[in-house]
Amino acid sequence: MDDCLFCKIGNKKIPSKLVYEDADVFAFEDISPQAPSHVLICPRKHLVSLTEATAEDAPMLGKLQLVAAKLAVERKLTAGYRTVLNNGRGAGQSVFHLHLHLLGGRDFRWPPG
Ligand code: AMP
Ligand code: ZN
Repeated sequence: MDDCLFCKIGNKKIPSKLVYEDADVFAFEDISPQAPSHVLICPRKHLVSLTEATAEDAPMLGKLQLVAAKLAVERKLTAGYRTVLNNGRGAGQSVFHLHLHLLGGRDFRWPPG
């Protein structure tokens, strides 16, 4: 997608603090962190949200979570961390390229806001 912020970040047309990349996914520091550790993990494939995902996307969706777990270990988020996938404006989605948030380094409440 030519006009997608996260596609441009993945293609390095827009700078970011990249923390992980492979053939399927890339991860970078959130520009407006909501916790001491806040990383966004994205598929290279442009999908608007989870709603557009199909069965063929299952390995990629699993990989997003596994990369989050790996980054959490690297970052020593031993007290706990949260992964969040906002779907649709009502859930707080503001960038329409599917992404998983990894948040850690502070306590979290439940239910979420
Ligand atoms: P969401 O609200 O779930 O769609 O999450 C979008 C996230 O992207 C927000 O947490 C923003 O702070 C973050 N964000 C927006 N623009 C950038 C950017 N250029 N680099 C890094 N993170 C960004
Ligand atoms: Zn995109």
